[in-house]
Parts: sequence; C-alpha cells; structure tokens
Amino acid sequence: MTATVEKRTPPAFLDGHPKQLFIGGEWVPAASGRTFDSINPSTGEVIGQLADGDAADIDRAVAAARRAFEGPWRKFTPAQRQNVLLALAELVDEYVDELRFIDTFDMGAPVSRRRGGSGSPEGLRYFAGWATKLSGETIPNSLPGSIFSYTLREPVGVVGSIIPWNNPSGMSLTKIAPVLATGCTMVLKPAEQACLSPLRLAELIQEKLDIPPGVINIVTGFGHTAGAALVAHDDVDKVAFTGSSFTGQEIVRAAAGNLKRVTLELGGKSPDVVFADANLELAVPGAGMAVFGNSGQTCVAGSRVFVERPVYEEFIERVSELARSLRVGNSLDPETQIGPLVSQGQLDRVTGYLDSARSEGAQATAGGARIVEGDLAKGYFVAPTVFRDVRDEMRIAREEIFGPVASVLPFDSVDEVARRANNTRFGLGAGCWTRDVSKAHRLAALIQSGSVWVNTYGLMDPAVPFGGYKMSGWGQELGSHSVDEYLSTKAVWINTDA
Ligand code: NAP
Ligand code: MG
Repeated sequence: MTATVEKRTPPAFLDGHPKQLFIGGEWVPAASGRTFDSINPSTGEVIGQLADGDAADIDRAVAAARRAFEGPWRKFTPAQRQNVLLALAELVDEYVDELRFIDTFDMGAPVSRRRGGSGSPEGLRYFAGWATKLSGETIPNSLPGSIFSYTLREPVGVVGSIIPWNNPSGMSLTKIAPVLATGCTMVLKPAEQACLSPLRLAELIQEKLDIPPGVINIVTGFGHTAGAALVAHDDVDKVAFTGSSFTGQEIVRAAAGNLKRVTLELGGKSPDVVFADANLELAVPGAGMAVFGNSGQTCVAGSRVFVERPVYEEFIERVSELARSLRVGNSLDPETQIGPLVSQGQLDRVTGYLDSARSEGAQATAGGARIVEGDLAKGYFVAPTVFRDVRDEMRIAREEIFGPVASVLPFDSVDEVARRANNTRFGLGAGCWTRDVSKAHRLAALIQSGSVWVNTYGLMDPAVPFGGYKMSGWGQELGSHSVDEYLSTKAVWINTDA
C-alpha cells in the first residue's frame, strides 16, 4: 500500500463553480435551484457542486431533444453525421487524458489505468462508419398486380440514456455514438456519483463540435427523480440503460406507460473457470485482475472463480499473493493499481458482504476488510480480497458485490462446472483458462452469457457485440446489432399501376 500522493493540480474544470445542466445547447441551473455535492472517493473531500435536476428539467431537456430531432438535425445527411462523429473522435483524442483525469478525481479510477475500452475514439470512428451504411431493403412480394415494397430504416427518435458511475467518460461516449450515427437525439443522465466528465464532454461539444443545440442534453440528478422522470416520459422513444439489474426491472415497469423501447446493460456474477491444465502464469493474474481491476467495479467482474481441484490450493496461494501485492492507494498516485470504491454507500455494501461471507463460513486468505490505516482511512478503500471455502449457495457466490472480492470454488468436471456456473440469474461475462482447445469450445458453448473469454478476460472492441443473457440485459451495445437498437423499420407499399 502506498502513501505518497503525487501533487497534481485538479483539472481547471473543477474550478469551484457549481456545474449546471446542459439543455438545448445552453447551461442552465436546475429549475428547483438545488445542488448536491460531488465527492472525491480517495479523500472523502467535496470537489464540486452539481445541479440537482428533476422532472421539470427532464421535461425541458426532452423538449429540446424533440425540437432538434424534428428540426435541424433531421436535415443532416449520413455523411454529415459521419463527419460529426469523426470530429468528436478527434476532440476526444485531444482531451481524453483530461476526461480520464476528471474521472480519477470523481470516481476513483487510478490514473495508471489503461486507455481504450468501449468509449474510446476508436469506438466513435467505428460508429462514424455506420452513419453512411444504414439502408433498407427492396423486398419482392407475392401479391397480384404491380406492388412495389421496400423498407426504410429511421432513427427511433428521442433517447433517454442512463449510465452508472464506474466508467463515466467512456460510458457517455458509448451512449452518444449510436445516437449520432443513427440520427437520434438524446438526454443523458449520468450517475449522481460521477457527473463531472460527462459535463466536461458537453462543454467541449458545445464549444468545438458543429451540431445543432438539443441533439445532446445532459441532466444531472438522482435516479429516483431525474432518472425516473426520463424513463417514464411520454415523449421519450427509447431508453438505453446501463446499471444494476434491480434498477433495470424498475425501468421496464416505468417504460410501460408509452411502451417505449428499452435496452438494458445490467449486472453480473460472472464465472471464471480455471482448469488444471491452464498456464497459471497467465491464469492467476488474468483471473485475479478480472475481479480486482477498477476495485471490482466492473459489470463483467469475474467474481466467481471456479478452480479445478488438482490446482485449487496452488491457485488460492498464488492469487492471494497477487491480491496482497497490489498497490492500493490514492487514485492520483501513479503507482496505485487499486483505487477506492466510489462512495460511502458502496463501501458499506461491500463490507456488508465481507461480514456475510465470514458469518457463512468462508475464509479470507487475502484482504477481507476496509483499509483503516493512514491517509487511506479517509477514503473508501477495501483491500483486494480472496475467499476460500465458498459454497455456491452463499450470498457472496450469488449476488453482485461490485467490489474487489473473489470467491474461489473448487470443481471436478466440465459438465459440473458449466452447470454450477449457469446456476445464477445473471449471464453477462465468463472466463475459461485452459490449454485444451476442445475443452474451451465445449465450455464456451455450454455457458449462458453474453461474452466468453478464453485465456484472457474482459476484452472489448467496438465491432464486437456486448450484451447480457438472462437478468444481465436486453439487446446489444457495440457491434453491428447495436445500431439496430436505435432504428425503426418502416415498410412502404406502392401500387405502381395506379
Ligand atoms: P444503479 O443503481 O442501477 O444506477 C445506474 C443509473 O441508474 C444511475 O444513473 C442511477 O442514478 C440511475 N437510476 C437509479 N434508479 C433509477 C430509476 N428508478 N429510474 C431511472 N434511473 C435510475 O447502478 P449503479 O449501482 O450505479 O451501477 C452499478 C451497476 O451497473 C452494477 O450492477 C453493474 O454491473 C452495472 N453495470 C453494467 C454494465 C453493463 O454494460 N452491463 C456496465 C457497467 C455497470 P443515481 O446514481 O443518480 O441514483
Ligand atoms: Mg464523485
């Protein structure tokens, strides 16, 4: 664990002025006049004030998005939308370090983390390509007479996008890209814990990107007020939600009012399977970082690690050693590998799971507690944790923890591990570590999840679809199918004899 914190001045964006809502191309305070605090989870300090948007602000933002959709934005040609996305990619290339640095202050991801991922400039360029490749079909019909039929693919309309805190700048861009590619407009509600980089992005878009006001609107606020109003709004045509499965269920209910379209990227309890023939040099850090990375606050965290019995003891020993060796610290310290959890609430949740694990009989072989020594006591730090003697029915093996907590479970055969891995309501990610290619294919076919990684974990690319089975989601984000989620298909019939 490190103590020295590199003295880097906060980004100029954290200038002490309260942040406002971005509606119709302008910065406006919340209608209620209320604000709430933004907190740095490494120190517990307040770093900014945010506008507490609610239903009245959502109304204004949806109206602005509707005006843009029916007005100037509709006139943009596919090539112009492509150029907007390419220009945005360049803008993000230029400012990506600042955006990530803001996230470090705001939600605690270490400055040392890797670049890339779903909301990268490359992702924007991928979606830029789609803008000029959306086309309907001419479909021969079998009706008598001369009847011509074809389809149009049209933007679905105003999209309400809601994101969690764990990758705010990347996730904002992941939501923005298909909206711009398809000609939709949007109202984005970021998570209350991590609003700053989406707002900085809006500032950059306003200053430097040539798009009509109202195409992208941002309303900060709470889920039960701003979020709920956006989801229930009668003039929103689609909701694109990323967050917990519990909130996903609420969203499906709330969207029923106008039967708006819904896509959901939800939680997981992803299995990561280590076979006895695996290269442990690869599997130990691979499976370890699949659950410790970003302090376990990743939707695909491989939090149930199934290890084949002959290597169970060795794996436990080595992954525990890895957990103990990781440098936990202030996110601004370039040496830090593991930062804090995002908030006091998340800390309470994770430590609650640590208590439940012990009371149900699991043994911590690394970590197992909040860090209470030195400066780290002020932040929300939990030591990377490995539990052994975990049984499938324990809460830590069933529920999403969203913290750096690995449950390690022994297994004896492919069929057994597939059955146990699938014995969950989630189906987001899965890992498999083996040198036996047929075992890998067999498990990949048996596992019920949206992604399976073999001898690697958590890789994503804008061209490859990402989504969840079962309670981990509806629909796809990324890849060619994701574009369909933002389009409606219209059939047109023409009697050419008329
Ligand atoms: P969350 O509590 O579901 O919140 C996510 C977002 O929904 C936040 O912006 C939240 O607002 C808002 N919200 C809460 N209640 C709402 C409601 N009734 N109506 C509309 N919006 C509402 O999730 P979280 O705890 O922030 O994030 C962690 C979860 O996200 C985990 O389950 C994780 O697995 C999942 N996740 C999934 C993916 C994926 O791609 N599948 C990626 C990342 C994370 P406030 O925060 O302001 O209350
Ligand atoms: Mg914060």
